[in-house]
Amino acid sequence: MSDHVLVINAGSSSLKYSLVDGSSGESVAGGIVERIGEAGGSQTHRGPGGESAGDESIGSHEEALRWVVDAFSSYGPSLDESDLAAVGHRVVHGGSRFAAPALIDDELIAEVKDLVPLAPLHNPANLEGISVARRLLPDVPHVAVFDTAFHQTLPAYAYTYAVPHEWAESHGIRRYGFHGTSHSFVSSEAARLLGREPADVNVIVLHLGNGCSATAVRGGESVDTSMGLTPLEGLVMGTRSGDVDPAILGHLARELGWSVDEIDRALNSESGLKGLSGENDFRELSRRRAGGDARAELAFDVYCYRIKKYVGAYYAVLGTVDAIVFTAGVGQHSAEARAASLANLESLGIHLDPARNTSESSTARFISPDNSPVAVLVIPTNEEWEIARQTLTTTRTT
Ligand code: ADP
Repeated sequence: MSDHVLVINAGSSSLKYSLVDGSSGESVAGGIVERIGEAGGSQTHRGPGGESAGDESIGSHEEALRWVVDAFSSYGPSLDESDLAAVGHRVVHGGSRFAAPALIDDELIAEVKDLVPLAPLHNPANLEGISVARRLLPDVPHVAVFDTAFHQTLPAYAYTYAVPHEWAESHGIRRYGFHGTSHSFVSSEAARLLGREPADVNVIVLHLGNGCSATAVRGGESVDTSMGLTPLEGLVMGTRSGDVDPAILGHLARELGWSVDEIDRALNSESGLKGLSGENDFRELSRRRAGGDARAELAFDVYCYRIKKYVGAYYAVLGTVDAIVFTAGVGQHSAEARAASLANLESLGIHLDPARNTSESSTARFISPDNSPVAVLVIPTNEEWEIARQTLTTTRTT
Protein backbone atom coordinates (compact mmCIF):
# COMPACT_ATOMS: atom_id res chain seq x y z
CA MET A 1 0.00 0.00 0.00
CA SER A 2 1.42 3.41 -0.98
CA ASP A 3 2.13 5.96 1.72
CA HIS A 4 2.66 8.87 -0.65
CA VAL A 5 0.44 11.87 0.03
CA LEU A 6 0.33 15.06 -2.04
CA VAL A 7 0.01 17.84 0.55
CA ILE A 8 -1.53 21.04 -0.80
CA ASN A 9 -1.54 24.41 0.92
CA ALA A 10 -3.51 26.83 -1.24
CA GLY A 11 -3.26 30.50 -0.29
CA SER A 12 -4.95 33.44 -1.96
CA SER A 13 -2.10 34.01 -4.43
CA SER A 14 0.13 30.99 -3.94
CA LEU A 15 -0.04 27.22 -3.98
CA LYS A 16 2.53 25.23 -2.01
CA TYR A 17 2.77 21.49 -2.47
CA SER A 18 4.81 18.58 -1.25
CA LEU A 19 4.76 14.89 -2.12
CA VAL A 20 5.39 13.31 1.26
CA ASP A 21 6.25 9.74 2.16
CA GLY A 22 3.81 9.41 5.05
CA SER A 23 5.82 6.70 6.82
CA SER A 24 9.26 8.38 6.79
CA GLY A 25 8.19 12.03 6.56
CA GLU A 26 10.53 12.55 3.61
CA SER A 27 9.38 15.16 1.09
CA VAL A 28 10.04 13.34 -2.18
CA ALA A 29 9.26 16.43 -4.26
CA GLY A 30 7.58 19.78 -3.79
CA GLY A 31 7.46 23.39 -4.72
CA ILE A 32 5.49 26.57 -4.90
CA VAL A 33 3.50 28.49 -7.50
CA GLU A 34 3.50 32.17 -6.56
CA ARG A 35 1.72 35.35 -7.66
CA ILE A 36 -1.37 33.53 -8.95
CA GLY A 37 -3.61 36.04 -10.70
CA GLU A 38 -0.89 38.70 -10.65
CA ALA A 39 1.59 39.91 -13.25
CA GLY A 40 4.95 38.12 -13.30
CA GLY A 41 4.32 34.62 -12.01
CA SER A 42 7.00 32.50 -10.37
CA GLN A 43 7.10 28.72 -10.00
CA THR A 44 9.59 26.34 -8.44
CA HIS A 45 9.54 22.55 -8.49
CA ARG A 46 12.03 20.44 -6.56
CA GLY A 47 12.28 16.76 -7.39
CA PRO A 48 14.76 13.88 -7.30
CA GLY A 49 16.38 15.29 -10.48
CA GLY A 50 17.02 18.73 -8.97
CA GLU A 51 15.19 22.01 -9.06
CA SER A 52 13.37 23.63 -11.98
CA ALA A 53 11.90 27.11 -12.11
CA GLY A 54 9.32 28.87 -14.26
CA ASP A 55 8.11 32.42 -14.72
CA GLU A 56 4.80 31.85 -16.50
CA SER A 57 1.87 34.10 -15.76
CA ILE A 58 -0.60 31.92 -13.89
CA GLY A 59 -4.13 33.28 -13.86
CA SER A 60 -5.95 30.91 -11.51
CA HIS A 61 -5.56 28.09 -8.99
CA GLU A 62 -6.70 25.70 -11.74
CA GLU A 63 -3.77 26.81 -13.94
CA ALA A 64 -1.45 26.61 -10.94
CA LEU A 65 -2.35 23.01 -10.21
CA ARG A 66 -2.08 22.11 -13.89
CA TRP A 67 1.46 23.56 -13.75
CA VAL A 68 2.17 21.33 -10.73
CA VAL A 69 0.83 18.17 -12.40
CA ASP A 70 2.87 18.97 -15.53
CA ALA A 71 5.98 19.62 -13.42
CA PHE A 72 5.59 16.18 -11.83
CA SER A 73 5.33 14.53 -15.30
CA SER A 74 8.18 16.56 -16.85
CA TYR A 75 10.67 16.57 -13.99
CA GLY A 76 9.46 13.71 -11.83
CA PRO A 77 8.55 11.85 -9.91
CA SER A 78 5.47 10.92 -11.89
CA LEU A 79 2.43 11.08 -9.65
CA ASP A 80 1.29 7.72 -11.11
CA GLU A 81 4.60 6.02 -10.45
CA SER A 82 4.72 7.17 -6.89
CA ASP A 83 1.31 5.59 -6.54
CA LEU A 84 -0.44 8.42 -4.79
CA ALA A 85 -2.46 7.26 -1.77
CA ALA A 86 -4.32 10.52 -1.17
CA VAL A 87 -4.26 14.30 -1.31
CA GLY A 88 -4.15 16.18 2.01
CA HIS A 89 -5.37 19.78 2.02
CA ARG A 90 -4.47 22.31 4.67
CA VAL A 91 -7.65 24.15 5.66
CA VAL A 92 -7.18 27.07 8.02
CA HIS A 93 -10.53 27.29 9.79
CA GLY A 94 -12.64 24.30 10.80
CA GLY A 95 -14.68 26.27 13.36
CA SER A 96 -16.32 24.22 16.12
CA ARG A 97 -17.49 21.73 13.51
CA PHE A 98 -14.19 19.91 12.84
CA ALA A 99 -12.23 18.38 15.71
CA ALA A 100 -10.42 15.99 13.37
CA PRO A 101 -9.39 15.71 9.73
CA ALA A 102 -12.20 14.64 7.41
CA LEU A 103 -12.67 13.02 4.03
CA ILE A 104 -13.70 15.66 1.53
CA ASP A 105 -17.12 15.37 -0.08
CA ASP A 106 -19.70 17.90 -1.23
CA GLU A 107 -21.17 18.13 2.27
CA LEU A 108 -17.77 19.00 3.80
CA ILE A 109 -17.22 21.65 1.15
CA ALA A 110 -20.57 23.25 2.02
CA GLU A 111 -19.63 23.22 5.72
CA VAL A 112 -16.22 24.83 5.07
CA LYS A 113 -18.00 27.47 2.96
CA ASP A 114 -20.24 28.25 5.92
CA LEU A 115 -17.07 29.01 7.92
CA VAL A 116 -15.79 31.63 5.43
CA PRO A 117 -16.95 34.56 7.62
CA LEU A 118 -14.52 33.31 10.32
CA ALA A 119 -11.56 33.17 7.88
CA PRO A 120 -12.42 35.39 4.92
CA LEU A 121 -8.85 35.49 3.60
CA HIS A 122 -7.94 31.83 4.00
CA ASN A 123 -10.90 29.46 3.65
CA PRO A 124 -11.95 30.64 0.13
CA ALA A 125 -8.40 29.99 -1.16
CA ASN A 126 -8.30 26.60 0.57
CA LEU A 127 -11.67 25.72 -1.00
CA GLU A 128 -10.44 26.78 -4.42
CA GLY A 129 -7.42 24.46 -4.03
CA ILE A 130 -9.71 21.60 -3.00
CA SER A 131 -12.11 22.00 -5.89
CA VAL A 132 -9.34 22.21 -8.51
CA ALA A 133 -7.42 19.27 -7.04
CA ARG A 134 -10.53 17.08 -6.93
CA ARG A 135 -11.12 17.81 -10.61
CA LEU A 136 -7.52 17.15 -11.67
CA LEU A 137 -6.86 14.17 -9.37
CA PRO A 138 -10.27 12.47 -9.20
CA ASP A 139 -9.10 8.90 -8.52
CA VAL A 140 -7.65 9.40 -5.02
CA PRO A 141 -9.32 10.36 -1.74
CA HIS A 142 -8.94 14.00 -0.65
CA VAL A 143 -8.75 14.88 3.04
CA ALA A 144 -9.11 18.26 4.78
CA VAL A 145 -6.74 18.83 7.71
CA PHE A 146 -7.74 21.84 9.80
CA ASP A 147 -5.35 24.25 11.56
CA THR A 148 -7.93 24.67 14.29
CA ALA A 149 -8.80 20.99 14.93
CA PHE A 150 -6.06 20.22 17.48
CA HIS A 151 -7.42 22.96 19.75
CA GLN A 152 -10.98 21.64 19.85
CA THR A 153 -10.05 19.95 23.15
CA LEU A 154 -9.85 23.33 24.95
CA PRO A 155 -12.21 23.44 27.93
CA ALA A 156 -15.08 25.93 27.68
CA TYR A 157 -13.51 28.26 30.27
CA ALA A 158 -10.38 28.54 28.08
CA TYR A 159 -12.11 29.11 24.76
CA THR A 160 -14.86 31.43 26.01
CA TYR A 161 -14.42 35.21 25.84
CA ALA A 162 -16.13 37.21 28.58
CA VAL A 163 -18.51 38.97 26.19
CA PRO A 164 -22.31 38.76 25.86
CA HIS A 165 -23.10 35.09 25.47
CA GLU A 166 -25.20 35.68 22.34
CA TRP A 167 -21.99 36.58 20.50
CA ALA A 168 -20.82 32.98 20.82
CA GLU A 169 -24.19 31.48 20.02
CA SER A 170 -25.07 33.67 17.05
CA HIS A 171 -21.67 34.56 15.63
CA GLY A 172 -19.28 31.81 16.70
CA ILE A 173 -17.20 34.29 18.76
CA ARG A 174 -14.76 32.13 20.75
CA ARG A 175 -11.12 31.06 20.80
CA TYR A 176 -10.34 28.52 18.07
CA GLY A 177 -6.51 28.61 17.91
CA PHE A 178 -4.32 27.90 14.88
CA HIS A 179 -1.02 26.23 13.89
CA GLY A 180 -2.70 23.03 15.14
CA THR A 181 -0.82 20.62 12.88
CA SER A 182 2.48 22.10 14.07
CA HIS A 183 1.54 21.98 17.77
CA SER A 184 0.29 18.43 17.37
CA PHE A 185 3.44 17.25 15.57
CA VAL A 186 5.88 19.01 17.86
CA SER A 187 4.21 17.96 21.11
CA SER A 188 4.16 14.30 20.11
CA GLU A 189 7.80 14.53 18.98
CA ALA A 190 8.62 16.01 22.39
CA ALA A 191 7.09 12.98 24.10
CA ARG A 192 9.11 10.69 21.81
CA LEU A 193 12.35 12.52 22.69
CA LEU A 194 11.51 12.19 26.38
CA GLY A 195 10.95 8.45 25.83
CA ARG A 196 7.35 8.68 27.01
CA GLU A 197 3.85 8.46 25.59
CA PRO A 198 2.14 11.74 24.61
CA ALA A 199 -0.61 10.88 27.12
CA ASP A 200 1.97 11.02 29.93
CA VAL A 201 3.55 14.41 29.32
CA ASN A 202 2.70 18.10 29.69
CA VAL A 203 4.31 20.37 27.13
CA ILE A 204 4.38 24.09 26.33
CA VAL A 205 4.94 24.55 22.60
CA LEU A 206 6.24 27.88 21.28
CA HIS A 207 5.74 28.09 17.51
CA LEU A 208 7.73 31.19 16.49
CA GLY A 209 7.62 31.79 12.73
CA ASN A 210 6.19 34.75 10.83
CA GLY A 211 3.04 33.91 12.78
CA CYS A 212 3.65 32.96 16.41
CA SER A 213 1.58 30.99 18.89
CA ALA A 214 1.97 29.24 22.23
CA THR A 215 0.02 26.15 23.26
CA ALA A 216 -0.35 24.29 26.55
CA VAL A 217 -0.59 20.56 25.81
CA ARG A 218 -1.70 18.24 28.62
CA GLY A 219 -1.37 14.51 27.93
CA GLY A 220 -1.40 15.03 24.15
CA GLU A 221 -4.38 17.42 24.16
CA SER A 222 -4.36 21.17 23.64
CA VAL A 223 -5.82 22.82 26.76
CA ASP A 224 -5.05 26.45 25.93
CA THR A 225 -3.56 28.36 23.05
CA SER A 226 -2.65 31.97 22.40
CA MET A 227 -4.35 32.60 19.04
CA GLY A 228 -8.05 33.25 19.22
CA LEU A 229 -11.00 33.74 16.91
CA THR A 230 -8.38 34.72 14.35
CA PRO A 231 -4.58 34.33 14.21
CA LEU A 232 -4.14 37.93 15.50
CA GLU A 233 -4.27 37.28 19.25
CA GLY A 234 -1.44 36.28 21.55
CA LEU A 235 2.30 36.55 20.93
CA VAL A 236 4.03 39.38 19.08
CA MET A 237 4.51 38.31 15.44
CA GLY A 238 6.32 39.54 12.33
CA THR A 239 3.57 41.97 11.34
CA ARG A 240 0.74 41.16 13.82
CA SER A 241 0.33 42.86 17.18
CA GLY A 242 -0.79 39.87 19.23
CA ASP A 243 -2.58 40.92 22.44
CA VAL A 244 -3.67 44.56 22.67
CA ASP A 245 -6.28 46.37 24.72
CA PRO A 246 -9.40 45.96 22.53
CA ALA A 247 -10.39 49.55 23.41
CA ILE A 248 -7.52 50.73 21.19
CA LEU A 249 -9.71 49.90 18.18
CA GLY A 250 -12.56 52.21 19.21
CA HIS A 251 -10.07 54.86 20.29
CA LEU A 252 -8.40 54.93 16.86
CA ALA A 253 -11.75 54.90 15.09
CA ARG A 254 -12.85 57.95 17.08
CA GLU A 255 -9.52 59.81 17.04
CA LEU A 256 -8.46 59.18 13.44
CA GLY A 257 -11.77 58.27 11.82
CA TRP A 258 -10.27 54.94 10.73
CA SER A 259 -12.56 52.31 9.26
CA VAL A 260 -12.75 48.78 10.61
CA ASP A 261 -10.77 47.54 7.59
CA GLU A 262 -8.02 50.10 8.16
CA ILE A 263 -7.68 49.09 11.81
CA ASP A 264 -7.72 45.41 10.84
CA ARG A 265 -4.95 46.00 8.33
CA ALA A 266 -2.84 48.04 10.76
CA LEU A 267 -3.01 45.33 13.43
CA ASN A 268 -2.44 42.41 11.01
CA SER A 269 0.07 43.85 8.55
CA GLU A 270 1.73 46.92 10.05
CA SER A 271 2.22 45.94 13.68
CA GLY A 272 4.31 43.36 15.56
CA LEU A 273 8.07 43.51 14.97
CA LYS A 274 7.50 45.50 11.79
CA GLY A 275 5.42 48.14 13.51
CA LEU A 276 7.88 48.47 16.37
CA SER A 277 11.12 48.50 14.40
CA GLY A 278 10.28 48.71 10.69
CA GLU A 279 11.60 45.15 10.28
CA ASN A 280 9.52 41.96 10.38
CA ASP A 281 12.29 39.54 9.42
CA PHE A 282 13.83 38.30 12.65
CA ARG A 283 17.29 37.75 11.15
CA GLU A 284 17.46 41.36 10.00
CA LEU A 285 16.03 42.54 13.33
CA SER A 286 18.82 40.65 15.13
CA ARG A 287 21.46 42.24 12.90
CA ARG A 288 20.08 45.70 13.60
CA ARG A 289 19.89 45.01 17.31
CA ALA A 290 23.49 43.81 17.34
CA GLY A 291 24.42 47.10 15.65
CA GLY A 292 22.88 49.07 18.52
CA ASP A 293 19.52 50.01 16.94
CA ALA A 294 17.30 51.05 19.88
CA ARG A 295 13.99 50.31 18.13
CA ALA A 296 15.19 46.83 17.18
CA GLU A 297 16.23 46.31 20.81
CA LEU A 298 12.80 47.34 22.12
CA ALA A 299 11.02 45.16 19.53
CA PHE A 300 13.14 42.17 20.59
CA ASP A 301 12.43 42.84 24.26
CA VAL A 302 8.65 43.18 23.72
CA TYR A 303 8.66 39.96 21.66
CA CYS A 304 10.55 37.90 24.26
CA TYR A 305 8.72 39.38 27.25
CA ARG A 306 5.37 38.36 25.71
CA ILE A 307 6.66 34.80 25.22
CA LYS A 308 7.81 34.69 28.85
CA LYS A 309 4.36 35.81 30.05
CA TYR A 310 2.70 32.99 28.12
CA VAL A 311 5.21 30.45 29.46
CA GLY A 312 4.30 31.58 32.98
CA ALA A 313 0.59 31.47 32.26
CA TYR A 314 0.71 28.01 30.71
CA TYR A 315 2.95 26.73 33.48
CA ALA A 316 0.14 27.69 35.85
CA VAL A 317 -2.47 26.14 33.55
CA LEU A 318 -0.61 22.81 33.39
CA GLY A 319 0.59 22.64 37.01
CA THR A 320 3.58 20.52 36.05
CA VAL A 321 5.57 20.96 32.86
CA ASP A 322 7.76 18.21 31.40
CA ALA A 323 9.03 20.15 28.39
CA ILE A 324 9.07 23.54 26.71
CA VAL A 325 9.57 23.27 22.95
CA PHE A 326 10.73 25.92 20.49
CA THR A 327 9.84 25.48 16.83
CA ALA A 328 9.48 27.32 13.45
CA GLY A 329 11.96 29.82 11.95
CA VAL A 330 12.74 31.94 15.02
CA GLY A 331 12.18 29.16 17.54
CA GLN A 332 14.53 26.80 15.73
CA HIS A 333 17.27 29.30 14.91
CA SER A 334 17.42 32.21 17.34
CA ALA A 335 19.43 31.22 20.42
CA GLU A 336 19.16 34.80 21.71
CA ALA A 337 15.34 34.83 21.51
CA ARG A 338 15.19 31.47 23.33
CA ALA A 339 17.59 32.65 26.03
CA ALA A 340 15.81 35.97 26.59
CA SER A 341 12.35 34.37 26.67
CA LEU A 342 13.33 31.87 29.36
CA ALA A 343 15.73 34.07 31.35
CA ASN A 344 15.41 34.05 35.16
CA LEU A 345 12.92 31.18 35.31
CA GLU A 346 15.27 28.85 37.21
CA SER A 347 12.96 28.84 40.24
CA LEU A 348 10.39 27.13 37.98
CA GLY A 349 12.93 24.43 37.07
CA ILE A 350 13.58 26.00 33.66
CA HIS A 351 17.28 26.08 32.77
CA LEU A 352 19.16 26.47 29.50
CA ASP A 353 22.56 24.98 28.75
CA PRO A 354 24.26 27.94 26.97
CA ALA A 355 26.49 25.76 24.79
CA ARG A 356 23.59 23.55 23.71
CA ASN A 357 21.40 26.58 23.09
CA THR A 358 23.91 28.27 20.79
CA SER A 359 24.99 25.19 18.82
CA GLU A 360 23.42 25.30 15.34
CA SER A 361 21.76 22.08 14.31
CA SER A 362 18.85 21.19 12.09
CA THR A 363 17.82 18.19 14.17
CA ALA A 364 15.61 17.93 17.24
CA ARG A 365 17.61 18.41 20.42
CA PHE A 366 17.71 19.21 24.13
CA ILE A 367 19.00 22.69 25.00
CA SER A 368 18.53 22.26 28.77
CA PRO A 369 21.15 20.57 30.96
CA ASP A 370 20.79 16.82 31.61
CA ASN A 371 18.40 16.08 34.49
CA SER A 372 16.85 19.54 34.33
CA PRO A 373 13.37 19.42 35.93
CA VAL A 374 11.85 20.91 32.76
CA ALA A 375 13.37 19.74 29.46
CA VAL A 376 13.82 22.57 26.95
CA LEU A 377 13.82 21.31 23.38
CA VAL A 378 14.25 22.63 19.86
CA ILE A 379 12.20 20.55 17.44
CA PRO A 380 11.93 21.41 13.73
CA THR A 381 8.25 21.40 12.87
CA ASN A 382 7.05 19.36 9.91
CA GLU A 383 3.48 20.37 9.14
CA GLU A 384 3.52 18.60 5.79
CA TRP A 385 4.36 15.27 7.38
CA GLU A 386 1.70 15.77 10.03
CA ILE A 387 -0.88 16.55 7.31
CA ALA A 388 0.26 13.45 5.38
CA ARG A 389 0.01 11.25 8.50
CA GLN A 390 -3.43 12.57 9.41
CA THR A 391 -4.55 12.18 5.79
CA LEU A 392 -3.47 8.53 5.68
CA THR A 393 -5.10 7.77 9.03
CA THR A 394 -8.34 9.37 7.82
CA THR A 395 -8.43 7.45 4.53
CA ARG A 396 -7.78 4.19 6.37
CA THR A 397 -10.34 4.62 9.11
CA THR A 398 -13.27 6.14 7.21
P1 ADP B 1 6.35 30.85 8.39
O1 ADP B 1 5.55 31.19 9.59
O2 ADP B 1 6.08 31.76 7.23
O3 ADP B 1 6.39 29.39 8.03
P2 ADP B 1 9.08 30.48 9.32
O4 ADP B 1 8.76 29.40 10.27
O5 ADP B 1 9.94 30.15 8.14
O6 ADP B 1 7.83 31.26 8.80
O7 ADP B 1 9.81 31.66 10.16
C1 ADP B 1 10.17 32.85 9.55
C2 ADP B 1 10.92 33.69 10.58
O8 ADP B 1 12.05 32.95 11.05
C3 ADP B 1 11.45 34.99 9.98
O9 ADP B 1 11.25 36.05 10.90
C4 ADP B 1 12.93 34.69 9.84
O10 ADP B 1 13.73 35.86 9.89
C5 ADP B 1 13.18 33.81 11.04
N1 ADP B 1 14.42 33.06 10.87
C6 ADP B 1 14.74 32.18 9.92
N2 ADP B 1 16.02 31.77 10.06
C7 ADP B 1 16.51 32.43 11.13
C8 ADP B 1 17.80 32.47 11.78
N3 ADP B 1 18.81 31.73 11.36
N4 ADP B 1 17.92 33.25 12.87
C9 ADP B 1 16.89 34.01 13.32
N5 ADP B 1 15.68 34.03 12.73
C10 ADP B 1 15.49 33.26 11.66
